[in-house]
Amino acid sequence: RALWDAPAPVPGLKISLEFFPPRGAQAEARLWETVARLAAYAPDFVSVTYGAGGSTRDKTRDTVLRMRRDYGLAAAAHLTCVDASRADVMAVAEGYIADGIDHVVALRGDPPQGAGPYVPHPDGFPFAVDLVRALADLGRFEISVAAYPEVHPQAQSAGADLDNLKAKLDAGATRAITQYFFDPAVFLRFRDRAAAAGITRPILPGLMPVLGFQQIKRFSAACGAGIPDWMERLYDGADADEATHQAVSAMLLAEQARVLAAEGCADLHFYTLNKAELTISACHLLGIRPRAEVAAARAAG
Ligand code: FAD
Repeated sequence: RALWDAPAPVPGLKISLEFFPPRGAQAEARLWETVARLAAYAPDFVSVTYGAGGSTRDKTRDTVLRMRRDYGLAAAAHLTCVDASRADVMAVAEGYIADGIDHVVALRGDPPQGAGPYVPHPDGFPFAVDLVRALADLGRFEISVAAYPEVHPQAQSAGADLDNLKAKLDAGATRAITQYFFDPAVFLRFRDRAAAAGITRPILPGLMPVLGFQQIKRFSAACGAGIPDWMERLYDGADADEATHQAVSAMLLAEQARVLAAEGCADLHFYTLNKAELTISACHLLGIRPRAEVAAARAAG
């Protein structure tokens, strides 16, 4: 038996990618280099986040527009309700329509760090479902929403959180994208619970590349993503050596993707963190190769 049975691409497997709007010239240059590399993997769609309380409003739109124009990507813009009136949020949505943006990832958003618990804006959309309804009424958008395999930290219960997801999909969203998780079994159990609750629209597993294990541990505590014990053991000592850390992270991301694909997940969503390497490693190990013409154009400079 061969040591490595190079996987054939899983039939119908699609990837999608999340980016965030860059801050500063260096980050901007790095983003476009990353986008150019990842565009060769023909993502089904890409999306660009919306900074807390609209802080990246114009930058989100401009980044989406350039992805569509210069890279031919089906780029979606995120939009949040937090700290904004309905009128302001809908003005942004109308702007998206005017600019030809036809896919919105509709979210509640979070208050800025240290600002205390979420309180809806007095004239705003209280929850994401309310935004989804308003966007769906416009009849111009494909709408994606967020889902939480490990339950949203502020949910009243796991059941209420799932009811909320179903409400968002019933209100007009066509797919959900999950918060990241590390144990594929967590996602698969969630997928089963969603199916039992009557959810039929696609739920895309969100996969997070581990750029720094200590950093992701801190971040995960806040957003409710569990760190399995086996991950602690996997990274034990890896921080001391960059190449080892990178290799462990590439293997982990690829293995998560491989297990999910083998379980019939045909759409995998990667949180790229505006870096290409780990996502490319995972695609490669899944058997996905860059489109020849894009690779050739890059090689020719
Ligand atoms: P909702 O679906 O409104 O749910 C929020 C909470 O309220 C849940 O606990 C839910 O159970 C509860 N709830 C819903 N309805 C009610 C009700 N009637 N009464 C009481 N409780 C209720 N943040 C950003 O700022 N910008 C981004 O670009 C961004 N992109 C993201 C992309 C993805 C794929 C994901 C998973 C998250 C993203 N986030 C982003 C983070 C997101 O804004 C936060 O997780 C936020 O806390 C919840 O947003 P939501 O849209 O899931 O909210």
